Amino acid sequence: MLTERPINIVVLGGGESGVGAALLAQKKGAKVFLSDRGNIGQNQQVELELAGIEFESGQHTWERIFAADEVIKSPGIPDTVPLITQLHDQEIPVIGEIEFASRYTDAPLVAITGSNGKTTTAYLVDHLLNAAGKTAALVGNVGVSFARHLAEEPAPDVFVIEVSSFQLDSIQYFRPQVAAILNITPDHLDRYNYEMDGYIDSKMRIAKNQETVDTFWYLAEDENIANGMERNPVAAQLRPVSKAQLTEKGIQIGAEEIDLTNTQLKGKHNALNALFAAGMVQTFGISTEDIRKGLESFEPVPHRLEPVGVIEGVEYINDSKATNVDAVTYALDAMEKDIIWIAGGTDKGNDYTPLIEPARTKVKALVCLGADNTKLKVAFAGIIDTIEETNTAQDAVLAARKLAKEGQVVLLSPACASFDLFKNYIDRGDQFRAAVQTLPSNIK
Ligand code: ADP
Repeated sequence: MLTERPINIVVLGGGESGVGAALLAQKKGAKVFLSDRGNIGQNQQVELELAGIEFESGQHTWERIFAADEVIKSPGIPDTVPLITQLHDQEIPVIGEIEFASRYTDAPLVAITGSNGKTTTAYLVDHLLNAAGKTAALVGNVGVSFARHLAEEPAPDVFVIEVSSFQLDSIQYFRPQVAAILNITPDHLDRYNYEMDGYIDSKMRIAKNQETVDTFWYLAEDENIANGMERNPVAAQLRPVSKAQLTEKGIQIGAEEIDLTNTQLKGKHNALNALFAAGMVQTFGISTEDIRKGLESFEPVPHRLEPVGVIEGVEYINDSKATNVDAVTYALDAMEKDIIWIAGGTDKGNDYTPLIEPARTKVKALVCLGADNTKLKVAFAGIIDTIEETNTAQDAVLAARKLAKEGQVVLLSPACASFDLFKNYIDRGDQFRAAVQTLPSNIK
């Protein structure tokens, strides 16, 4: 009798999802090799060594990769690079970590995607479930990867998974019982040949394996989603979430209104996120009363409209995660005071038109924080009276402090990626917070 050889898994990419997938694959008895063309971080290398997983950093050895029975690729690697197209040509299956992990659990999956609000809504769903006595695990694009959780932790009642469009591009049978698309606005178009339809179809993949017992939640007023649903019919029960369910003070769920004014969920966008989260947790039998209590005890996620201090009557808010125009539209809308706006960074092909009117009425000064601020300056010249340029978080905060009057708010909501001056949006937000917290009081 032939003994079956262990299945050969190659993991491409040594970030959180790659290491998680390698750990899970090894635990399931596969022979694992991890390869990253860039540099694998020190912590990840130590982890792989301790687990006895072979890996290479700074190169791809094609021979070893092409010996794989199956390849698990990081969402950061586009499908169009030669390595991946050739794997496809040789009919070696290439899947993502989410697809791989989903094979190893029977727990219900709540999957959340959208251009903005994924993290906040995933945190909300996780919090509402846990606060109501279920054990939920928050995994995916944020924090611990789905695969690592399965490899290392006990099974929860429900997995709450934040999924990006890149992750959805490499699913095959992944089937969330509850899926949501919060909104679709232009983002990451560079990965989709600058075609909006490609990006929309990628988001729609979240529902592609759903069945009639499952539910699909989506923003009723979103034309891009409507257009995606026309091209990609959904089998699951449709659960439109409508802006009409927003009330003056909060949200309407069925016959009941939940007041959000005494929660830390600020702005219309967060009310929408709360509506989605409330609806989704109801499918697990959570009562309106438990939802109300859970929303009241929810604390904002760092870097998303995060209050970081009040100095001499000026409030400072860190919205570093606002890396596109739509997120900033909601941020400006959520402010009830005049704004000193800190924005800029790596422009992702932004069209600033939706920000012109709110900027004209609410923004008193713009402090640019980017290596090249030309596009921002041109877009807002004549709209915002005062425009200044800086290139460190500290200088931006100092400039904003000098411009701000008592009762105004200094808002970092950049509309751009952070890579020109910072490691990432977290680094940008952390430096902003630190600069605010060490502001000399006698600056004016
Ligand atoms: P994601 O994980 O999709 O990037 P986050 O919850 O991290 O979403 O929020 C990213 C940015 O978008 C933040 O600036 C936040 O204030 C803003 N935002 C959050 N929810 C929404 C929404 N429903 N619509 C538009 N913008 C939103």
